[in-house]
Amino acid sequence: MSKVCIIGAGLSGLVCGMRLAKAGFDVVILEEMTYPGGLMASTHLGGEYIELLPHHVRRTDKALNALTKELGCDNKLKWYDAFWYGRASRKKVGYFEGGFASLTNLLIQVITDHGGKIFYSVSVSEITTNGEGRYLTSCVFSESRKYEVESDYIIFTGSCRTFVNVSHGLPMSMNMRDQLMNITYHSRICLMMQMRKLPSDAYIQLKFPGQPDTPFARIVNHSACFNDRNYGGQVTYLVGKCQISDPLWVESDQMIMEEYLRAYRKLYPLIKKSDIKSWRLTKVRYAVSEHAPESDLTEPIDGVYVCSSALTRYSTTEVPENRMDTVIALANDICTRITEKEKALHERKEDVIITAI
Ligand SMILES: Cc1cc2nc3c(=O)[nH]c(=O)nc-3n(C[C@H](O)[C@H](O)[C@H](O)COP(=O)(O)OP(=O)(O)OC[C@H]3O[C@@H](n4cnc5c(N)ncnc54)[C@H](O)[C@@H]3O)c2cc1C
Repeated sequence: MSKVCIIGAGLSGLVCGMRLAKAGFDVVILEEMTYPGGLMASTHLGGEYIELLPHHVRRTDKALNALTKELGCDNKLKWYDAFWYGRASRKKVGYFEGGFASLTNLLIQVITDHGGKIFYSVSVSEITTNGEGRYLTSCVFSESRKYEVESDYIIFTGSCRTFVNVSHGLPMSMNMRDQLMNITYHSRICLMMQMRKLPSDAYIQLKFPGQPDTPFARIVNHSACFNDRNYGGQVTYLVGKCQISDPLWVESDQMIMEEYLRAYRKLYPLIKKSDIKSWRLTKVRYAVSEHAPESDLTEPIDGVYVCSSALTRYSTTEVPENRMDTVIALANDICTRITEKEKALHERKEDVIITAI
């Protein structure tokens, strides 16, 4: 069976890995971090897993809800009444028992049960062709060891810009390269705090009356909606939009935390520094694309796919959103295209054999 090299063990990479490993492909996933999950990666807090960035499921997330059913973890997805301060509305939002790590771990289990392999701490530096119709992915392990994967298909799940930077060796048109490179991204800074108590019971706050200059754009009071679980405190996230040209982006985590905290305490003067039991800062360089491309760029050359949140929609002026549901739908679509291509290839080979006989 043909081999697929998937770059990235975030949600897209894991969904593609699961689908193609189940379809009988030889699957190799290369991830540059030491852990899976990408943007929905989790960490340990107290006796629980929790995401580094705030995540929830919507009732309308068709592809995501279908995936949880398929994996048999829909019974772990619980629905909560969430109050949206700033939009003054209530919504049902979903969260997994055991956090989104439950979903990640199940995907990994299916991949490995079907013979797929996942390598961590491997950064892909170049994708080229081997001159015989296959692709060569060169990567470097964290301890500087080099490694090459030869495959029939490539699925790249990082940002479009990173894809262009690692694919100079591919016979891709200049126009395609430019279109992918022209997709620019907003970055995000997120401060997760474990607190003794939360000053508000709203799940999400989007507006801060009287404080227009807060460095963060939203507060997500995770525990106000999904309870304390076993975190050993109540969890809140302060999420800020940021440009990498912004001086704050290059500041130390400690400095950013202090700036965020100053603004937070202006909103809630009763909060003391001692109310914060622990904190963790996460910076995301390629969080959300600024616009959708004019055409479909998901297969820049035959057999090479870019499964990136920025490419889930094209030919639209709507403001892009990076959502799990749309990246799962794109991953599903790319896997269908690969399996159909593979089927057509086998049928052609069989025809040639019959004609030869
Ligand atoms: C602050 C924030 C909050 C969010 N909240 C929600 C939410 O509540 N609900 C929702 O539906 N969605 C939410 N999202 C979006 C959701 O996280 C994403 O849609 C989803 O996780 C994207 O998965 P992905 O696999 O496509 O990309 P990523 O998660 O970015 O995965 C790409 C992976 O590729 C790896 N990679 C990149 N380059 C290389 C390389 N050269 N070599 C090796 N590996 C590489 C990266 O390390 C990464 O692990 C949120 C996003 C953000 C930023």
